[in-house]
Amino acid sequence: MLDNIDSAMNWQALDAAHHLHPFTDHKDLHERGVKVIERAEGVFLYDAKGNKIMDGMAGLWCVSLGYSRPELVEAAAKQMATLPYYNTFFKTTNKPAVALATKLASIAPEGLKHVFYGCSGSEAVDTALRTARVYWQTLGKPEKKIIIGREYGYHGSTTLGASAGGMVDMHRQSGDMPNFVHVIPPYWYGKGGQMSPEEFGLYAAKEAEKKILELGPENVATFIGEPIQGAGGVLIPPSTYWPEINRICKQYDILLIADEVICGYGRTGKWFGTDYFGIKPDMMTTAKGLTSGYLPLSALLMNNRVADVLINEVGEYYHGFTYSGHPVSCAVGLKNIEILENENLVEGATAKGELLRAKLNEAIGDLPIVGEIRGVGLIGAIELTADKRTRKFFEKNGRVGVICRDHCIAAGLMMRATRDTMLFSPPLSITEAEIEKFAAMAKIAFEKTFADVRAEVAL
Ligand code: PMP
Repeated sequence: MLDNIDSAMNWQALDAAHHLHPFTDHKDLHERGVKVIERAEGVFLYDAKGNKIMDGMAGLWCVSLGYSRPELVEAAAKQMATLPYYNTFFKTTNKPAVALATKLASIAPEGLKHVFYGCSGSEAVDTALRTARVYWQTLGKPEKKIIIGREYGYHGSTTLGASAGGMVDMHRQSGDMPNFVHVIPPYWYGKGGQMSPEEFGLYAAKEAEKKILELGPENVATFIGEPIQGAGGVLIPPSTYWPEINRICKQYDILLIADEVICGYGRTGKWFGTDYFGIKPDMMTTAKGLTSGYLPLSALLMNNRVADVLINEVGEYYHGFTYSGHPVSCAVGLKNIEILENENLVEGATAKGELLRAKLNEAIGDLPIVGEIRGVGLIGAIELTADKRTRKFFEKNGRVGVICRDHCIAAGLMMRATRDTMLFSPPLSITEAEIEKFAAMAKIAFEKTFADVRAEVAL
């Protein structure tokens, strides 16, 4: 169908007439005209106008293997021809779902052996939060239901996920759910003031403890946090933060959920952010990199503490999705993990990330608007600043980020802006030559950004 009508279609006009986009100001989109992405290969996207753009975000942090890997296409086609779908409700299962759960249990941090599938990170988060409440209710503590998240946290767009996240615009639009509380994020660059990063990491964790004591630990079900807060600005916690959160959750008997939807499956140079920081979660939400985004799939992993209650005490758990354990998604997930292993892409992310940050430092590190270049493995951020020495933000936070993002795209590099923080998370398959190219394009874009805002910058 697409081939027959392609030349006659005005895709932009039809998109504007009929297609509503996620997280989009539609008036602004329709004025600018949507970009039609036609195909992609490796780390490059190609739009309908013939532009070639390096995908510095791996789609939405997910396309770890890069685009157009034939092995994933073959895995999907083979499974579609064998069993394209069957549910896992009717005391039935399928082999890819079982094989993938077994594989995940073997690569997951110790103790996380049980898998509940969904299609998206949001579904995994929803499942984790519902499960936390079901857990306490089943143990006779129904009052233990408050969920603690963090400012700038992102946990998806379902009602529970949006409530657990700390994005104030989301709360403003759909209203706050009761029994969700937010504490400060371990964002040293933006909130650390005169403290050292280590001091600030401890301070941020102790603020969570203060909040728990204020609420009463007997009322708190769970603390949910991304190992590195992704959408909120790639906020990398100081080394002191997670050990203290581990201690606090243990001391006050609060379930700990690590939201690994971005960090999971190698982005940090370890299989999970939990491995990198030594987090001790009871549950871990994963999605995105599980299939490199080729098909929708999420996996919530849980330890025996939680799973024993679900399996032995809850009876029927009234929860699940039509596509839980989808055989085609699971077959693609299995193949994806096999390739990550065979091509050493998880361990490789550490050296590639170091190289990328070194090249970025060479290219743009001395610019007066570049306040910090940070990263772990192949996830990172660049802070734009009005004063490098004092870490001062620009007036009207978010404005310069958009200018810089537009220059990046014009230079051929897809980056994302959160406030005035530029984010990057390229495919783990990126090569050294592509890393050089990434930095060269960033140089063009950041120099142009500096030229645009020069008058506002302390030199
Ligand atoms: N948790 C985190 C940490 C995420 O980054 C995201 C998506 N960016 C989600 C949950 C939600 O995932 P999805 O968009 O697949 O629902």
